[in-house]
Amino acid sequence: MLKNVKNRDSFAEKLGDMKKLGDYDFEGKKVLVRVDFNVPLDEKGVILDDSRITGALPTLRTILNSNGRLIIMSHLGRPKGEKQDKYSLKHIINHLSKALNKGVQFAEDCIGPTTEEKASDLVNGEVLLLENLRFHKEETTGDVDFAKQLATLGDFYVNDAFGTAHRAHASTAIIAESFKDKCCFGMLMDSEISNVEKVLNSSKKPVTAVVGGAKVSSKIDIIFNLLDKVDNLIVGGGMAYTFASAQGGNVGKSLVEADKLVLAREILTNAKTKNVKVYLPVDSVNTQEFSNDTKREISDIMTIPNDQMGLDIGPSSLKVFKQVILESKVILWNGPMGVFEFENFSSGTKLLGEYIVQSTANGCFSLVGGGDSVSAAKRFNLAKGMSYISTGGGAMLEYLEGKTLPGIQAVLNANN
Ligand code: AMP
Repeated sequence: MLKNVKNRDSFAEKLGDMKKLGDYDFEGKKVLVRVDFNVPLDEKGVILDDSRITGALPTLRTILNSNGRLIIMSHLGRPKGEKQDKYSLKHIINHLSKALNKGVQFAEDCIGPTTEEKASDLVNGEVLLLENLRFHKEETTGDVDFAKQLATLGDFYVNDAFGTAHRAHASTAIIAESFKDKCCFGMLMDSEISNVEKVLNSSKKPVTAVVGGAKVSSKIDIIFNLLDKVDNLIVGGGMAYTFASAQGGNVGKSLVEADKLVLAREILTNAKTKNVKVYLPVDSVNTQEFSNDTKREISDIMTIPNDQMGLDIGPSSLKVFKQVILESKVILWNGPMGVFEFENFSSGTKLLGEYIVQSTANGCFSLVGGGDSVSAAKRFNLAKGMSYISTGGGAMLEYLEGKTLPGIQAVLNANN
């Protein structure tokens, strides 16, 4: 995997030059589509959240509308190479069939002669769903022979699994080599890439990144990469206390990564060199225990009493952040401002989200991506007011870190 790609311009150029799914005619073609149907299921196999299925529908419908023969492959859970009923993709057949408004055939193995026969028996407009790819350990090890066996099933390959694009697995990265000039991104993948590129290579300014969440350590690479891309960096959440401590503040029992103090100072110096304005919280909502139902007190973030911990940003911080957000033309939001799961400490995250919605209504482009800020935006009903909500947690994080994702690179390489 390439890290911190220097040649970002040619990457974006190549992306721009690539043909889109809608440019192809799939009439009579067996189109092998890698989707991410890794949906949460309850013990009875009932789907608890179908957004990953919904996300892939535009791609699947486009192929069917163009009279293609659709072969769908995905993983579900982490069966670690073993066939297990609870991870079978048969649990989603009915749901998928309803969503596509047509019958869905099922292959009980993703490779092998029976599956090959089912694939070649498909007629135009028919759908075949393959059993969980991860019932074969060769999927996650990126086995070349396994990828070749999958490749025999289709005439054309589409990768629409953004959520798995950071994995160099057989069906996401290796398989593309078998489809030189016969592969492309699906529509979900395409929109994920183009929306994150809008933030990372924006011609509109100012660009503001709001980074929150628990720890500095999990966001270091993102922050360093963003320092080359943004004008403003707002830091909130647990990691803000490490920054406060690094500047000589007393943050009481708040979450502090003692081994990251030097790094926090380095980030601040780096930001200065790069002319990035960093906004740290000035005040904090504190309490004595990590619980929703304890007494709250607000203090300066630099003088938190020793028996207290900060679980949210305070009103003065919100006032400063609001102004920066309303003046921004592009905003990336990654990570909550506090322990938003506790109602009493959720205001910072909720209000900050509302400011982004307000800025978006005024014409700003906003992207929410990478994990908990997505669930916060959904929880506080803010999702509809954002320009784009990413579906790929880990994949989006790695994209923001500046890594080239193997699932994306492989399709680009096969189109040259
Ligand atoms: P991350 O996955 O790194 O984005 O972190 C998200 C988690 O950070 C959420 O579960 C929040 O509850 C947690 N978090 C945010 N602010 C704080 C804080 N001040 N202290 C402890 N945890 C926090």
